[in-house]
Amino acid sequence: MTEKIYEYRDEKNWFIGTWAGFNYFTCFGDDQVFEAVQKDFHHLLDQLQESGLQIHVVSYQSRFRLLSFLIQIIKDKTQRPLELRQQAGATLVVEGDKLVAVYLPEKGLPLTDFFGQTVETASDLGDSILIATKNEGKTKEFRQFFAQLGYKVENLNAYPDLPDVAETGLTFEENARLKAETIAELTGKMVLADDSGLKVDVLGGMPGVWSARFSGPDATDASNNAKLLHELAMVFEQKDRSAQFHCTLVMAAPGAQSLVVEADWEGYIATAPQGENGFGYDPLFLVGESGKTSAELSLEEKNKISHRAKALEKLVEAFPSWQEELAKQS
Ligand code: IMP
Repeated sequence: MTEKIYEYRDEKNWFIGTWAGFNYFTCFGDDQVFEAVQKDFHHLLDQLQESGLQIHVVSYQSRFRLLSFLIQIIKDKTQRPLELRQQAGATLVVEGDKLVAVYLPEKGLPLTDFFGQTVETASDLGDSILIATKNEGKTKEFRQFFAQLGYKVENLNAYPDLPDVAETGLTFEENARLKAETIAELTGKMVLADDSGLKVDVLGGMPGVWSARFSGPDATDASNNAKLLHELAMVFEQKDRSAQFHCTLVMAAPGAQSLVVEADWEGYIATAPQGENGFGYDPLFLVGESGKTSAELSLEEKNKISHRAKALEKLVEAFPSWQEELAKQS
């Protein structure tokens, strides 16, 4: 039995096709036409995982016409519910409710043109993350990271009626979970909480989860640093003053298993404060073997290597598969 021959022809486009043993195309015209046809033809067949289509392009002007022609042949043979759509200059191949291939103009497209309203209403669709903090500085850091994943970020200042969650846990994870999971249940949103602190080896990991309140209920950064220097007054060798800044991040959503990541930043406790930047124990934290404290780093430098930056990197890596699990559960 001979295979059916398909043909499309208008003033500027003329294509012929049939099914045979393998994917193959021939083409009249210059290199530019050849490359354009080759790219789109193979991309479509790869994406749809179809093989055995052979075409000849006699004349070519419209990418949309060529793709329509190919889709029509594939639909005819396989009965797959394929459709071609155009959106803001891009051509999309849709199968039922699934997007299966995208063809962009050579220079790309502005995201807002392509997503239009979707970007504007992302928070309505649950594409936003609530950070369990009132600190705008921290929020800014998180916003920068989640922008890469297309998420909007807001903080507790947008929810003034929420109760404060007391950090009564005995570990960083317990505290971060308490904040993230309580607020996720109260708001119905995806919530990220962090808990961080300084662990000094010779003090058995203290001040740890008590870092903010190390010198008492009315502690300030200065009083905490003074207490730390006092505790280490008899520890003379730098190697014995080793310490880590620690950060645990917990991402929670109502009724779901939370995502937990953590990271340490290694260093030593200096014998006197150095540097003006940062906050908390930064003036006493000597970064690795650099001889500089974290208060001598610019915010930009610190944000590249700190415990929070490392934990955030891990979170950004693990987040997409956690999100997929979440989508399956809902
Ligand atoms: P929290 O995670 O905001 O509750 O921070 C707990 C405490 O750990 C802070 O009050 C600081 O004393 C200390 N801390 C956490 N991260 C840093 C840092 O990056 N630099 C200096 N101190 C920090």
